[in-house]
Amino acid sequence: MPRPSELALPHIAALHAYTPGLQPTDAGWVKLNTNECPYPPSPRVAEALRREIGEDGTALRLYPNPRSSALREVVANLHGLKAENVCIGNGSDDVLNLLVRVFASPNAGYTFPSYSLYPVLVAIHHGGIEAIDFDRSMKLPIDKIAASPAPIFFLTSPNAPTGVAFSPEEIEEVLKRYRGILVVDEAYALFARKDAVPLLSRYPNLVITRTLSKAYALAGIRIGYVLAAAETIDLLDRVRDSYNTSRLSQIAAIAALQDGEYYSTIVEKIKTTRDFYIEEWRRKFGWFVYQSEANFIFVEPKTAKGEAGPAVARAAFEFFNQHKVLVRYFPSHALTASFLRISVGTDDEMLVVDETFQAWRKNA
Ligand code: PMP
Repeated sequence: MPRPSELALPHIAALHAYTPGLQPTDAGWVKLNTNECPYPPSPRVAEALRREIGEDGTALRLYPNPRSSALREVVANLHGLKAENVCIGNGSDDVLNLLVRVFASPNAGYTFPSYSLYPVLVAIHHGGIEAIDFDRSMKLPIDKIAASPAPIFFLTSPNAPTGVAFSPEEIEEVLKRYRGILVVDEAYALFARKDAVPLLSRYPNLVITRTLSKAYALAGIRIGYVLAAAETIDLLDRVRDSYNTSRLSQIAAIAALQDGEYYSTIVEKIKTTRDFYIEEWRRKFGWFVYQSEANFIFVEPKTAKGEAGPAVARAAFEFFNQHKVLVRYFPSHALTASFLRISVGTDDEMLVVDETFQAWRKNA
């Protein structure tokens, strides 16, 4: 009998899967490795879920609305668009996958470093992917993106793992010249000064993806969405699973999106904490820190002697692990290997991070 991997599609048998950040099951970790929100979601979310489940969960017998229609309306209103400009997914990973299904043949493009799921999704669909590298300045390589022959290009803004955001003017420059679909992945846009939504009405080749996993504190609920021209949304709906989001996810997302007041308070708090520590580590330690517009900080730790580099970052990462502080380290590329990415936590969590850096630096 042939083995399953011999029967599988050859490109799947050879695939390197995406590695998600660790989700530890033991207690006691300060968990700042996957850019989740450190604060709970709006209290309206739990209320709405309780109402839907009721005494005995009888509503759960029934399939959800296949188009997430009510949620599409809420998202459209939020952005001043029509429901025909919105598609909902099981997290933004799901909508990114739909975009790949529709457009990424024979290939796609993305900037590097950015979200490492894009090349995996493209590889699953047997496409090729062209990476356009940033340099250390992290300035957007507009000319190179504009000249890309790929039918779809993924741009993350604010970018991950740097937190650097690209201005609407820069994005517009790409949109004017690039001849494919430009996906601007705005997973972190609520923490940024500006976003690309106002460009949608003028550029039918612009697609924006958003998630409720970060600013809305609902990573466990799995809701993301696409904003795009109605024609693009129609194409995405053709390749979507018919029930791609659950009843409870739709209910939770609607409750969250209708509580803008609650979320503006926690988003402001996260931005204040972020800006405080960026300045603090620059001033106190003399370290290089990118100007983040996301809910994480990409920092290049230096020893007390002033040494930086991959070995230093790895040592700091291991020291953090030993002290049960979970952050993210990306060793596989020169542009990221000297840095740690730290999700912005509560004040107490950030104090632990700050003290851990000080303790590490003393002995490094
Ligand atoms: N885009 C970017 C840039 C991200 O960092 C993430 C989270 N890892 C996602 C999309 C996926 O988010 P979701 O939880 O909505 O699938």
